[in-house]
Amino acid sequence: MLYPWQTEQWRSFSLQYEQKRLPHAIILTGVNGLGQLSLANKMVATVLCEEPPISAPCGGCHNCQVFAAGNHPDHTFVGPDESGKQIKIEKIRELKQKHTLTANIAKWKTSIIWPAENMNISASNSLLKLLEEPQSNTLLILISIKPQLLPVTILSRCQKVPLAVPTNKQAIEWIEEQDQETYKEIEIKRALSLSNGAPIEALRLLSSNSLYFLEQISKDFNHVLSGAANPVILAQQWQQFDLHMVLYYLQLKLKQRLVKNIESSGNNIVINDWAMYDCIIDTTKLLSSSHNLNKVLLIEKFMVKAMNLTSR
Ligand SMILES: [Zn+2]
Repeated sequence: MLYPWQTEQWRSFSLQYEQKRLPHAIILTGVNGLGQLSLANKMVATVLCEEPPISAPCGGCHNCQVFAAGNHPDHTFVGPDESGKQIKIEKIRELKQKHTLTANIAKWKTSIIWPAENMNISASNSLLKLLEEPQSNTLLILISIKPQLLPVTILSRCQKVPLAVPTNKQAIEWIEEQDQETYKEIEIKRALSLSNGAPIEALRLLSSNSLYFLEQISKDFNHVLSGAANPVILAQQWQQFDLHMVLYYLQLKLKQRLVKNIESSGNNIVINDWAMYDCIIDTTKLLSSSHNLNKVLLIEKFMVKAMNLTSR
């Protein structure tokens, strides 16, 4: 499936394929929720297809059918065993093993690594060797929303295909076309802002009622700050949520308040709010820096720090 905001990237890929100048490795980047995996799958399906280079897989040949069924012997999908965990070296070793064999039923061997930034250091090093000695007729697609976490040596050996977010107008139109449910425009805009403009992620937020939960979380947080709620109990509750999203929501709310306060009362009043802003950003950085964090402890520390800032 091709989303309306992917047409440029698709056109350029199919042109390269038709002209037989595809790179061995591609990295698809862009914020979460732009359908990177869907685009990668379409690229893979195109090169596995038995029909001569055409701008899309035929869907009817044996290769297309086996790939659609999810068990094509010449395609390897590499991901962590559990969402959010590391991709270990064993997975990359298996991939390399497969790449040394001749293709079974297609003319190409393909692989997708997602999310590529979850590879640990030894997995990255192992992948680098594969990138340094690419076999002919192989296509490796890395998908990453945080390419800055990948070694430069890997990035420099991949063709970068960045996916940009569509305009707000296009995104709103697309969301309205997708769902039976009708959302208020203000809700759609808020969901888009929370998802950095990515329509698929925004739609997920809308259809899962996440905005309601996030608003509740924001209220609970204010209760903690005023001493009316217990941070330890709240930290337990928060661990079930996407913490990046929670922190980002708090950051957005704070930003709105800061803008409003600066306009109404000048800079001096809002010093604590700026400190709080820093505190949220620091916690987000900590959260991104490791895959094996004790989330409850992290949230507790964050709340205690926030309470100290408020009581100053
Ligand atoms: Zn086909």
